[in-house]
Amino acid sequence: MRVAYLVLVAGLITCTVLPQVTPQSTVKPGWQWSMDTVMKVVNAVRGGRSLKPASWPGGTRVAVLLSFDVDNETISLRYGEPNVGHLSQMQYGARVGLNRIVTLLDAHRIPATFFIPSVSLAITPAMAGVIRKSGRHEFGVHGWIHEMNMTLPDSAERALVAKAIAELTQMTGVRPTGYRAPSWNFSPNTLSILRDNGFRYESSLMADDSPYELLQNGQPTGIVEIPVEWILDDAPLFDPRGTSYMNPRDIARVWMDEFDRAYAEGTTFVLTMHPHVSGHRSRIVALEQLIAHIESKPRGTVWFATHGAAAEYARKQSGLADPVP
Ligand SMILES: [Zn+2]
Repeated sequence: MRVAYLVLVAGLITCTVLPQVTPQSTVKPGWQWSMDTVMKVVNAVRGGRSLKPASWPGGTRVAVLLSFDVDNETISLRYGEPNVGHLSQMQYGARVGLNRIVTLLDAHRIPATFFIPSVSLAITPAMAGVIRKSGRHEFGVHGWIHEMNMTLPDSAERALVAKAIAELTQMTGVRPTGYRAPSWNFSPNTLSILRDNGFRYESSLMADDSPYELLQNGQPTGIVEIPVEWILDDAPLFDPRGTSYMNPRDIARVWMDEFDRAYAEGTTFVLTMHPHVSGHRSRIVALEQLIAHIESKPRGTVWFATHGAAAEYARKQSGLADPVP
């Protein structure tokens, strides 16, 4: 049984998306698959119709959706190997980074979405008040302890999502409508779990520059995907010990180029940041430069919104019905 599970996990790690029940044949390398298996795998979770509206609210040209994944200590805790030094590095997000970020956003009256593992918020419950203060920001589910979904059986992933929803709702006073998989680690079971729990949008996948509907096994789900991209994530590029480290001011230039093309094409600009990363003094500069660049566009052409507001606007404009359980 243990061996069979390991074989299944190995298969899941080497393939991006697999059906919930994994036929033995799919743990073979792809060059041994039939075309039938190929299509089952690619259709398990796939981008459906585009939900790009003709324009954004008030005739604006682009939707700017800033998100902050408030991981803090859960990054250190999730593998069960506590490390005091790393925990302190992650505590910086709760202690310093979040306040610096929220102060900047609120000074510019910019709404954002905060995806928070419920353990992160339970460690520092005061973060809820900091985020809630302006009344503009949204809370979203980001796992219980930033668990890696693809390593979990369905029952464990399902239980953790349920626990995260209940705890986040209790600590923030609002039931979240959106989900972001920790580390964007989306398992073959994640979409079914999101549907069963009544989520209205998801933000971990990457098939477009605009919102789109998620399909499951070729069927519409009514769940809006707000797509992300590693290009637009601060974590790998801002890590001074990482292999892909870049100067924050150079990264700000990449973000501006991404925004300018989104502005020209009328799509969305979705940026994923972390308080323990972008909350540092030399890194908040990138966000400040980006905001200044965006605010240099003519008045009334840019819509700053939460992910939830953008998902619902795209849903309404596209005539997309509510999610189908
Ligand atoms: Zn995260």
